[in-house]
Amino acid sequence: MTFNVISNAVRDIRLLLPQAFYLKRLYMNKYFTALLLLIVFFSSCKTMKMTPLERSSILSGDTNASFRVLSVDNEADSLILRQKCRDVDFQADKELIQLLISRLKLMMAAESGVRIAAPQVGVLRNVFLFMRFDKPEQPVEVAINPRILSTSPETYCFERDGCLSVPDRRENTRRYVWIDVEYSNEAGKQVRERLYGGMRGADFTGVIFQHEFDHLQGILYIDRIY
Ligand SMILES: [Zn+2]
Repeated sequence: MTFNVISNAVRDIRLLLPQAFYLKRLYMNKYFTALLLLIVFFSSCKTMKMTPLERSSILSGDTNASFRVLSVDNEADSLILRQKCRDVDFQADKELIQLLISRLKLMMAAESGVRIAAPQVGVLRNVFLFMRFDKPEQPVEVAINPRILSTSPETYCFERDGCLSVPDRRENTRRYVWIDVEYSNEAGKQVRERLYGGMRGADFTGVIFQHEFDHLQGILYIDRIY
């Protein structure tokens, strides 16, 4: 009798053990799955409020002055320039983004440039400025959270492309004839349009947009050499 009780108990324990391990494994799997989902969620969360570090870099130094431009000649700068940017939350960080834009405008004017992207000053966010050679008065347009929706099937050689972050160098690059783009402008209005232009000395608005959009992906024009 006693032997049977012990024998049954041992059998029950042997039967239950795998289940216990299974439940533990299931629990652990659930835990890891939840953790993985959280990691995926946060890493894929392209729109996030500015971090304290981003906030302090936009507010750094004299806020009425431009920033220092990052250069591929500097190893630490180069690593930043090769990172992919995230969208901004325009409503949540409106004042900060407006300050970033005004400082980028100052920088463009000081450098006599036709474009500048936020990552070039160490802010890894999807914002850039580009000159509209295709519009009267050639205004400076702001592209917030831009997308390239489609591209022309044909490409061509754009001569002597250059970049503030790649000093003392000019190279011919391969560019699309036109691009369909979407972005929010400085007023927060959603814009969708087709951009052309690849003639240096005339209208090369389309090329400027392609060059700046690349910056947001961590791509430099030297990766597009024709
Ligand atoms: Zn550039």
